[in-house]
Amino acid sequence: MSSSPPAPPGAVARLRAQVSELHQELVRYQLVVWTAGNVSARVPGADLFVIKPSGVDYDRLAPSNMIVCDLDGRVVEGGGLSPSSDTAAHAYVYRHMPEVSGVVHTHSTYACAWAARGEAVPCVLTAMADEFGAEIPVGPFALIGDDSIGRGIVDTLRGHRSPAVLMRNHGVFTVGKDARAAVKAAVMCEDVARTVHISRQLGEPLPIAGPDIDRLYDRYQNVYGQPAPPAGAAAPSAADLSPFDLPAADLSARTDRGATA
Ligand SMILES: [Zn+2]
Repeated sequence: MSSSPPAPPGAVARLRAQVSELHQELVRYQLVVWTAGNVSARVPGADLFVIKPSGVDYDRLAPSNMIVCDLDGRVVEGGGLSPSSDTAAHAYVYRHMPEVSGVVHTHSTYACAWAARGEAVPCVLTAMADEFGAEIPVGPFALIGDDSIGRGIVDTLRGHRSPAVLMRNHGVFTVGKDARAAVKAAVMCEDVARTVHISRQLGEPLPIAGPDIDRLYDRYQNVYGQPAPPAGAAAPSAADLSPFDLPAADLSARTDRGATA
């Protein structure tokens, strides 16, 4: 059993529902096939996270079959099911990036095409500057089964603005201040990977100057979208907003990012 503090009342139930629902976003945006891909969310105030079970069809995922793990990836509430085979990587990220409360993994097609070639997606679109603030970097080749993937994710994203990393020959991992932000980053990663790939077929994409990337990133992360509701006011529910209405995957607590990394 984990020695972590108990989760706040209701937090695990809320995240079971949210993580289950967010998996359907991976399907909706065509980021996954069969049972590949996974979303997890850190339980606030506890050394726990919620992740999907391994090898269960997307249309059978439900709040009741989400798995609760401790930050070493050990099952705390599993209902007899095994957690995602990527649980160790998620756990490693949560242990080493306390500012991260959501992690997503996909094998989305265009992003994987870049990963297979070990090439970062260059920052050549304003939408990329907005969301990623830089190129989308490539992490090392790593085999599943130990901390190698998690270490590769953390080593690549530390000091980098991008909430997405292309793990070489594998796929995408994204992080966020919550699971929804990490899902958004995964959606945007695939979108820009596709567009920049198409651009490459037409010629060499034009770079955006570093200071302009900085300005775009700062505006999108700090000004874009709806202002925060006044203290005490009810925030709009996620169901009222499209992913693109929400503030970016802004890890505002991340102070370790390089200014132009
Ligand atoms: Zn994978």
